Amino acid sequence: MKVRFLGTGTSFGIPVVGCDCEVCTSSDSRNRRTRHGLLIEEEGRRLLVDTPPELRLQLVAAGVRHLDAVYLTHPHADHIHGIDDLRIFTLRSERPLPVYVAEEHAAEIRRRFPYIWEEDLDRPPVSSVPDLEMVSFRDREPARPAGFSLTPVGFPHGPFRSYGFRLGDLAVIVDAKELPEDAADLLGGVRVLVVNALWFGNPHPSHFNVEEALEVIERLAPERAYLTHLTHRLEHARLSARLPDGVEPAHDGLEVEL
Ligand SMILES: [Zn+2]
Ligand SMILES: [Zn+2]
Ligand SMILES: [Zn+2]
Repeated sequence: MKVRFLGTGTSFGIPVVGCDCEVCTSSDSRNRRTRHGLLIEEEGRRLLVDTPPELRLQLVAAGVRHLDAVYLTHPHADHIHGIDDLRIFTLRSERPLPVYVAEEHAAEIRRRFPYIWEEDLDRPPVSSVPDLEMVSFRDREPARPAGFSLTPVGFPHGPFRSYGFRLGDLAVIVDAKELPEDAADLLGGVRVLVVNALWFGNPHPSHFNVEEALEVIERLAPERAYLTHLTHRLEHARLSARLPDGVEPAHDGLEVEL
């Protein structure tokens, strides 16, 4: 199985518009971070996690020609506002593309994109829309997007919940602020962990900072862990040097084999 980090930035993306800081003006491409997206591939099957605003650019960079399913972690703009870029896949395949969403998020996602989900909307015959089939899942109930056996796990994210998952030896935690005890039990023993981290210090109400992410890594004790959803307060090389063995900052385009 291969995991490709499509986007590793926090909601503003990096460079931040109009920011002259050292990270936003860095010549190291690892400091350029688009919004959160992941691609999981195995034996020709492809699962996309999140549809961020830069989705088209990410898919072009990754050379993606087809997708089998999409999994949306939660309906925040930085994770779903590129959903229209799925249109090319269903135009080509002439088949609906399954989009997995948590039951509690389904109504919000439909409301956000009525032109996709409302059957009786009057559309001009020449316009094309993504043909998406919504499949809802529940916390801790196994699902099979793109034929992968995956267990969704809801994490507190401020007043919301964001759904990471366990997929075999891989655990993905994005936009989490807390690792509940029973979620830690479920994710224990994974070999590779992806977890969100904003910056050092100054705890945020809805996202882990680096210190909190490192505590999560210590609890789950994977062989390798990757930090993602990073802000412009984290310079790639310096962050990398400060992290313990087996923990690395992810960057856009990074590929990890499991
Ligand atoms: Zn986010
Ligand atoms: Zn900046
Ligand atoms: Zn969020």
